Amino acid sequence: MVGFKLPLLLILLQAIFGSAYRWFNWQYEVTCESDAYVTPESENATALFLKQQYPKGSFIKVVGNGHGFGNLTTCVDTATTKTPSYIVSLTNLKHLNIDKKSMTATFGAGWDVFDLTNELKANNLSFNNLGAERVQNFVGATSTGTHGTGSLVGNIATQVIGLRVLDSQGNLRIVNEHTNAEELKAFRISLGALGLITEMTIKVQPTYLLKKTTKVLNATKDYNKMYNEISQLYKEHDRMTVWGPHFDWDEKTQDWSIEPTFFASWWEPTTYTGVHNCTLNYCANGCGDCIKNYICYDEVTDAMSCPPQGVCTREFYAEIEHFFPVEHLAEAATNYTLFQQAQTPRMKGPYNEQMIFQLRTLKGDDSYMSPVNTYNLEPKNSGVFAILEIDWIQTYNDWNTLWRNQELAYEFLPHFGETYNVRSHWNKMAAPNATYTLEQFPKLPQFLAIQERQDPKCQFVNDFLVQQLGITRCAKYLSS
Ligand SMILES: Cc1cc2nc3c(=O)[nH]c(=O)nc-3n(C[C@H](O)[C@H](O)[C@H](O)COP(=O)(O)OP(=O)(O)OC[C@H]3O[C@@H](n4cnc5c(N)ncnc54)[C@H](O)[C@@H]3O)c2cc1C
Repeated sequence: MVGFKLPLLLILLQAIFGSAYRWFNWQYEVTCESDAYVTPESENATALFLKQQYPKGSFIKVVGNGHGFGNLTTCVDTATTKTPSYIVSLTNLKHLNIDKKSMTATFGAGWDVFDLTNELKANNLSFNNLGAERVQNFVGATSTGTHGTGSLVGNIATQVIGLRVLDSQGNLRIVNEHTNAEELKAFRISLGALGLITEMTIKVQPTYLLKKTTKVLNATKDYNKMYNEISQLYKEHDRMTVWGPHFDWDEKTQDWSIEPTFFASWWEPTTYTGVHNCTLNYCANGCGDCIKNYICYDEVTDAMSCPPQGVCTREFYAEIEHFFPVEHLAEAATNYTLFQQAQTPRMKGPYNEQMIFQLRTLKGDDSYMSPVNTYNLEPKNSGVFAILEIDWIQTYNDWNTLWRNQELAYEFLPHFGETYNVRSHWNKMAAPNATYTLEQFPKLPQFLAIQERQDPKCQFVNDFLVQQLGITRCAKYLSS
């Protein structure tokens, strides 16, 4: 009892003395004012907190590490409501059990991806897919479908085989592939809307070595030709990232000029036993000149993703990341590039630096809210998705430039969505439109039914989720 009474007392004191907490995402443009930042010591303490808040209908926004570009982690701002509003982080839930017999790892919601992968590595284990970086909280990363690259590899959430989750009344629900496999498809990517996940169990595998080959490619303004060549490369390499084309902002002409070269990296299993050197490479932490031919070897985690970044490229940036059936790759990438160019006059102004296109692939899956869900594919689609990312990077943290670029970022989905069956990354500049969401996520009604059961008073949602998912029943709670 003592374990969870103290944190509750602190919350109460914070509420009484008005120690409000302002939440920011990683680059400070997503922010909201809450009544307090709550970090329970255990699952029991979290359940008790929820039980206490349920009668008041308090808003509860559970967060990971805020490593996103969208409003998933925005709390209901205290300026807009009389209802209490809290940010909850389960960072203290740090238990871990690795079971080498069943090849699973079970861990508390406090684990960050970086620490968990290191712990697995120390046990000669790994899991299969990571984002380009490892700075996320594991549950936070899972809850949005974070991914790396690979036509035969699923996103990070596909590895989840069970979890423990608390609903808004503090009741515990155990969801796993044995007892409620269908429901697990809803909880794997839950956007923080289905409750507070306190523990996850994932499949792990013996770790293995990869050879990473990086090759410089030539850019051309004949985009159709360039993207068709890239598309061909994806037929040859199932695990590849294309970093490019790159464009630099020309201050004089106020236009983007294409760099003559860019690069692609692909990964393949190897039996090489020499030095592991991918993280030693000049490019491993996003620093240095990466457009070079090179080969490195490393354990899968270190070969596929970067440890937390250095400080060299951390100015503001806007970003989109769209998923569509890989069959559209060449045509969609060409048209995205042309659309971007047509919009360039709107970007005129200070502080633009670089615009980088990035292409990856990902195997589709059956999680209800997965951006690569296979529920609405046509028979001719293979079930593999292409991922197109555009980053607009600035020389200086200027808010006006950031917001202007983000406005532009919002326009790609309405423009191309229907044509290429596009879904946006949940944490990267998705324009809210519930009708469109329903088209791309046919299991949305099932997801919302579970959402209502888990959260009858709409304590886990915010404006973004209400609009994006069309949770109309919640609008009245948000305006109270
Ligand atoms: C520079 C940069 C690079 C990126 N690269 C990639 C990439 O390569 N691939 C990719 O897919 N994404 C990438 N992302 C996006 C990012 O990794 C994901 O959006 C990820 O979800 C963020 O994790 P987080 O821990 O910060 O979660 P947050 O952003 O804090 O939260 C994400 C969601 O998880 C929910 N959540 C958190 N904890 C819990 C819990 N205990 N229970 C229930 N719900 C919870 C939150 O409510 C929210 O809905 C990148 C982002 C940035 C800023």
